[in-house]
Amino acid sequence: MSENDGETDLAALAPFSWQQQQWHQILGQFRANRLAHSTLVWGESGLGKVEFINSFSRLMLCQQPTAERACGSCKSCLLVKNNSHPDLQVIAPEAGSKEIKIDQVRAVTDFVNRTSHAGGAKIAIIDRAHRLNISSANALLKTLEEPSNNTYLFLITNLSGRLKPTIRSRCQRLQFTVPTTAICRDWLSGRLQADVIDSAVQAASNRPLLALELASSGAVTNRQEFIAALTELSRARAPIQAPVNLANKMGESAAIEYLLWISSILIKCILTAQMPSAADDSGVGLCSLFSTADISRRGLAVALLCYQQELSTARKQLMSGANPNPQLIMESLMWRWSELCRQSLGQAG
Ligand SMILES: [Zn+2]
Repeated sequence: MSENDGETDLAALAPFSWQQQQWHQILGQFRANRLAHSTLVWGESGLGKVEFINSFSRLMLCQQPTAERACGSCKSCLLVKNNSHPDLQVIAPEAGSKEIKIDQVRAVTDFVNRTSHAGGAKIAIIDRAHRLNISSANALLKTLEEPSNNTYLFLITNLSGRLKPTIRSRCQRLQFTVPTTAICRDWLSGRLQADVIDSAVQAASNRPLLALELASSGAVTNRQEFIAALTELSRARAPIQAPVNLANKMGESAAIEYLLWISSILIKCILTAQMPSAADDSGVGLCSLFSTADISRRGLAVALLCYQQELSTARKQLMSGANPNPQLIMESLMWRWSELCRQSLGQAG
């Protein structure tokens, strides 16, 4: 792994290669004094939205910025880097809490109403803004309705649909999109060992920071264990509990990403009648199992596509924050998977 100091300052690297257009858009507005007081920063997770806004905040507060970047060394830049700049306030759900509480929003309101310490811009960042509960969203709305001079709010979310329409309508939108595989792979080269890049990119569906996190946190090993358990389940040799327990250990959302990934590989294998590339061998066992299916290739591919639909629905349920129970969702998905295998592979269930 290239991460030798434990915590790389990713924000110092932003904007990333897939964020150039957004950077120029917002920088142009800021320099022309046309930046909206509130910006909704949205797009899928794992794209570096937080790092982007953190980096942009450094630039806004920097005492000697270059044409496009913060200097990185002035007092202001160092304060931001240490999370101690008095003109920058960041809130997010507290550890162990799913919600952004009203007291946190009140702190933002107080901050907005204070005068700037450095005499320049003041910036408030609300990370995972979709976690605002009803009362905190209402409190924030008041702040959005009465913008304070030279004060900027950034609401960051991967679920903008969960924000109140009245909040969304008061924000300018800054959208981030998933880069191509080539861009994602390119960014990871040098940061990850070459032999894990392809599987990390696949597992993260081209979201570069998620790919880095998956590979760096041992998630690739987790995925291999999970796929191995899934393979045993597919052979009807193991109960659903083994993969369900592994999913619980690494997080059900991650497990769903792996299921989406492996089912895509299986569909490709079935339709092309070829084994997966050597880049990731954890899927080989499953692919050879599916190549012996009793039903037609087309029928099998259709069954897997339907299963992917269920995975997408489950992913939405999990991300909504209002989900009933991640373990129940996973048990249901594993049960459906074993049904799919029993019907397609002719296993005695
Ligand atoms: Zn600076």
